[in-house]
Amino acid sequence: MWGRRDRSTQVTCIACGETVARSDAREYDKHGDRYTRREKEFEYLCKSCYRDTDHQPRGDLETVLEESGAGQCDRSEFLARYTDLATESRQESER
Ligand SMILES: [Zn+2]
Repeated sequence: MWGRRDRSTQVTCIACGETVARSDAREYDKHGDRYTRREKEFEYLCKSCYRDTDHQPRGDLETVLEESGAGQCDRSEFLARYTDLATESRQESER
């Protein structure tokens, strides 16, 4: 008996904070491993944010995130490094 259907069908987009129906959201697993589901909470993106992230080559994005120290340094330092790296790689690809 699933009495709490309403709660479980609403998810929050990690990018914009919008609450959307789960069926309209896209699962986003930052570990890139959808098959290990135990003790793991998936994050969700709404359709428009999912479309935005999709423009970026995922491999590069993950590398940039790691080089930026994601999960290792504090948020402001991570953002500063991330901005540097992201700007750098954009200039390179424009050449
Ligand atoms: Zn969103």
